[in-house]
Amino acid sequence: MAIAAGDEGRYKRRVLDLQKRVAAIHRDFRLYRGTSSHLFPYETRYRNRSPRISMAEFNHILAIDESQNTVEVEGGATYGNIARATLRHDLLPTITPELKDITAGGAIVGIGIESSCFRYGFVHDGLHEADVLLADGDVITCTSTNEFKDLFKGLPNSYGTLGYVLRAKLQLVTARPYVRVTVRRFTNLHSYIDALRYDTEDPSNDFVEGLVYDTDELYAIRGHFEDAVHPVGNIHGLTPYYKQLRDIGEIGLRTEDYVFRYDPDWFWNVPTGGMYTVFRLLAPRSVRHSSFYKRYSRWKAGLIRARNFLWQSEPSVYEPLIQDWQVPWDRALEFVEFALNKIDLRGKPWACVPIRPRQSPTLYPVAAGSLYFNLGCYCWMRSQAGTERFDATRLLDNKCFGLGGLKMLYSSTFIDECEFQKRFNGDLYRALKQKYDPNGRLPTVYQKVMAGE
Ligand SMILES: Cc1cc2nc3c(=O)[nH]c(=O)nc-3n(C[C@H](O)[C@H](O)[C@H](O)COP(=O)(O)OP(=O)(O)OC[C@H]3O[C@@H](n4cnc5c(N)ncnc54)[C@H](O)[C@@H]3O)c2cc1C
Repeated sequence: MAIAAGDEGRYKRRVLDLQKRVAAIHRDFRLYRGTSSHLFPYETRYRNRSPRISMAEFNHILAIDESQNTVEVEGGATYGNIARATLRHDLLPTITPELKDITAGGAIVGIGIESSCFRYGFVHDGLHEADVLLADGDVITCTSTNEFKDLFKGLPNSYGTLGYVLRAKLQLVTARPYVRVTVRRFTNLHSYIDALRYDTEDPSNDFVEGLVYDTDELYAIRGHFEDAVHPVGNIHGLTPYYKQLRDIGEIGLRTEDYVFRYDPDWFWNVPTGGMYTVFRLLAPRSVRHSSFYKRYSRWKAGLIRARNFLWQSEPSVYEPLIQDWQVPWDRALEFVEFALNKIDLRGKPWACVPIRPRQSPTLYPVAAGSLYFNLGCYCWMRSQAGTERFDATRLLDNKCFGLGGLKMLYSSTFIDECEFQKRFNGDLYRALKQKYDPNGRLPTVYQKVMAGE
């Protein structure tokens, strides 16, 4: 299905309309999309009060080209919708982030990962071209070779501060209707990391990831596309997917369920037992997804804050540890050992993803072609008595940077600006900002990360 003339016309009209609204503002602005955000600042220190312009209408799948294996989508199209559309053609984006409401634009500028990263790198490694709305209202098309190749290379990790992705052409790969997931348990960290690496070199594996509970409870997980599986597993039942992995050893899933396997329980954040059992039994599918749960937990956190304020109660002893760090593979052992030694996740796992980036983006300077070990943590932990707030994040950030690694910036980071510029190529970023947003109508990445807007 090539891009239909009508769809192209409608897309162009949406672009013109957006440009008019940007031109009418004459000052700094920010765009909002109407879908749930996956930024996760631990606390908000500053609110961006610039006027908001809606790009909620940029949520369409424009075209799927089966001869080229590409899909053209608007920046606000969610991966839930993209995967559903491409799977009808037995195709999937090279990397499909695991939460359904993450959008193509957000994942390109915010670094997207999944269990196929050992093959295809990051989300942005599958980007062919993008239409970008610049701060002055111009829309340009950038590719890796055209006159705007510096912007193309600068988009990953720019978080919308160089411009907004309105349309993206993404690489697709062949998919099958089901995925068979096999799990092996290891009791030795050294052998575990070796086994994961070996799995990345085995061409028969379509997906590779891991879950780590402790130095002697480590799971290496492989996924293979299949035409049929029996029985077909359920990720919306009473037992969350990550618990099924621990208990069963092999699961067959519909491919769409495999891709979004962590969505119904927002990884492992929806508790089990009590009223949550009732929720799991009775809640319709429409609310069994991460965005609903994220809204619910924000609302609950607000109530707890209000209660603490009114009754002068002690602040919560729990703090979020929601982060992804990547270290070069030969430093993985040291990093995981450090994390397990310093931090107790109270029975929740760490997530591991091997990643072999294809490029070295300007603002995310990983080594192209080298294997990285991604350690992710998506839960709340008990604050350590007598330590600074968010001490665990600071500790792991420092360790990661010390090992030559990088971290994703979607939640909080506590390094100073000088260190930040050093890690994320601040000089080259300044040059890009000067060229594509000379009047500073959009904030800088550092402002966004530190402000936690
Ligand atoms: C709990 C949690 C789990 C996560 N899990 C995964 C995961 O499994 N896989 C994965 O790949 N990533 C994951 N992420 C990271 C996520 O992909 C990034 O945060 C990504 O930027 C989110 O994109 P979004 O579409 O939700 O955009 P938002 O969260 O709304 O925005 C993120 C940033 O991108 C900017 N932005 C949004 N859309 C555009 C656009 N069209 N053009 C330019 N800038 C734009 C926004 O201004 C903002 O700065 C996770 C994050 C969290 C908090």
